[in-house]
Amino acid sequence: MKWWTGLLDVLFPRCCPMCDTLLEENEEICPACMEQLPRTEQATLRGNSTEELFSDIKRFERGGCFMFFDKASPVQQMLHQMKYSETPGIGYQLAKEAAYDFMTADFFDGIDVIIPVPLHKRRLRERGFNQSEWIAKGLSDVTGIPMDTSHVLRVVNNFCCLSPRGDVQKAYTARR
Ligand SMILES: [Zn+2]
Repeated sequence: MKWWTGLLDVLFPRCCPMCDTLLEENEEICPACMEQLPRTEQATLRGNSTEELFSDIKRFERGGCFMFFDKASPVQQMLHQMKYSETPGIGYQLAKEAAYDFMTADFFDGIDVIIPVPLHKRRLRERGFNQSEWIAKGLSDVTGIPMDTSHVLRVVNNFCCLSPRGDVQKAYTARR
């Protein structure tokens, strides 16, 4: 245990973003809430609703959502905290949990690398972290599939400059 982490937990105790109970060290969500997450079980369902959403994209192989989302639910409260309270560790813990679920199916078979959706460098500077990278790291740590953050770049900061779907690819570029 890093002594300052323990000290910070004593001085500024952290609470579960879903139920407000005190968290132990290395927890971002309490075990009881993790147990009760509204999982979709989509990893085992070929042709699930997530895959249907992207079915018009060429070379799309597989997809799946980990949790259901309801407005004004504890899940929304948690995701809001993850996004706006600089607690990217929540995404890391959720991704690890999702990876364990999805590994029970053959979901990760044949995947060579995990590439998080990059942020534009200006946005990254403002925000301080890329949530997608923390999620990818959680998936990578559980599955052993390497994560690559150096070969895809975001070149457009604001999606409002692009048309809704087809132009999104213009926001990114690949480099050798
Ligand atoms: Zn909780």
